[in-house]
Amino acid sequence: MTEPGPRAYAALLERTAALADLRGIGALLWWDQGTMMPVAGAQSRAHQFATLERIAHAQLTDPEMGRLLDAADPWAATLDPDARERRMVAEIRRDVEKAVRVPAELAAEIAHAAALGEHAWTEARAANDFGRFRDALARQIELRHRYAACFPDAAHPYDVLLDDFEPGLTVAELRPLFEALRNGLVPIVAGAVRGGDGDGAGPLDGQFPADAQRAFVTAMLEAHGFDSAAWRLDPTIHPFAQGIGVGDTRLTTHYDESTLDMALYSCLHEFGHGLYEAGIDPEIARTPLGGTTSLGVHESQSRLWENLVGRSRPFCEWIAPRLASAFPEALGGLTPERLYVDGTRVRPSLIRIQADESTYNLHVVLRTDLEMRLFSGTLTVDELPDAWDAGMHELLGVEVPDAVRGVLQDIHWGAGLIGYFPTYSIGNLMSAQIWEALNRDVPDVEERISRGDSEALRHWLRERVHRHGRTFPPRELLRRVTGEELSVEPFLRYLRGKLADAGHLGA
Ligand code: ZN
Repeated sequence: MTEPGPRAYAALLERTAALADLRGIGALLWWDQGTMMPVAGAQSRAHQFATLERIAHAQLTDPEMGRLLDAADPWAATLDPDARERRMVAEIRRDVEKAVRVPAELAAEIAHAAALGEHAWTEARAANDFGRFRDALARQIELRHRYAACFPDAAHPYDVLLDDFEPGLTVAELRPLFEALRNGLVPIVAGAVRGGDGDGAGPLDGQFPADAQRAFVTAMLEAHGFDSAAWRLDPTIHPFAQGIGVGDTRLTTHYDESTLDMALYSCLHEFGHGLYEAGIDPEIARTPLGGTTSLGVHESQSRLWENLVGRSRPFCEWIAPRLASAFPEALGGLTPERLYVDGTRVRPSLIRIQADESTYNLHVVLRTDLEMRLFSGTLTVDELPDAWDAGMHELLGVEVPDAVRGVLQDIHWGAGLIGYFPTYSIGNLMSAQIWEALNRDVPDVEERISRGDSEALRHWLRERVHRHGRTFPPRELLRRVTGEELSVEPFLRYLRGKLADAGHLGA
């Protein structure tokens, strides 16, 4: 006869496996919405998301879950603190306790509004008219307030939103961190030689049919572990990556036929996300530990591939001759040096996802400040476009010509993803810390990259970061990987070093 603790644990795993399947189904619907779904399907998709959410919420908040957890807890407490079973029970408790605080109707309303808000954003963008988005945004903020109110013991209501994306992150920690980031970046950007406005002079600009781009980026990713038996790459407007389950990792990209820049770097970015999802130990698949630990860690992986690998001198040495031979007319004369120097330039610009490495985080610092003010009520939805434009002028010295190149450029707020933006910069900070640790362990990693050999890099990332899934909370994972707490210095150090190496620092 099995003891009650292990028996309850087995029952919990059975229930949470079904929940993991529901999440996979939701992920598939999300992928479909971003790639295949006819635009007129938005209303029914919103209902489908809400129904999935209602089912998942009901299963998670079933009183039987609480009884099973109470039966499993005393047994789990006798195990080693690092034991997988003990971590599993703690993670289920965290999910259940969060879910029981939120009424089922509110959870479904949030899911429904996310799909509709995204749709409103798409229409407002097509019309270049913030006015068509304002009601959807106001609705998202109202819903986020109702959500945060379910957790009255949080030190700050915005902490509740942060915790969904970056467990454990608080306003108290975020404010000084972002202030240090901003204060570190502003002089770096001011001291760098400006790389022009970036209109049409890039080394990857020209005429590139979508099919040819697709063939090139697919071959590039295949050289680094993209396996068409387990991965897909599809076109979309706003690139994203989505793990559906073991053996099913979906990347998306956008083919702008006037430049290779977008597809090349967004593919490397989404590939980093995909490797994280695909690298989770299959033994914890369909369990509460079988996901990714935070969006910050997720983004550390994508930015590592996009920037620390993709925009490095060694990677340019590998990719430039391949670009030149794949596109002899447009890129026949491309040198690794030109690609590296140009890819490192400081070019204050309007669009976050196209921003250079030096200015990127200032976009995030601004969004974080704006959404914290929107959420706290010190900024109204109607004041947002002007506040956005003023912030872009102050931080980056650029003038915003219209809503599409300003406040309407990102999908997040429409989808109710408030508290999400900070994780982009958290990821950039982590990527530099992880890169330093990687270089200590694999000192010849850059030489290997110059030969197109990322095997050791991928192995290290899988062993140290990916395979653990949610076994460790994000900050514990960072500590285990780097021996450090989250900080801005490694990132600033990386940036200064790179700008100096590429010759972008003033005399
Ligand atoms: Zn990303």
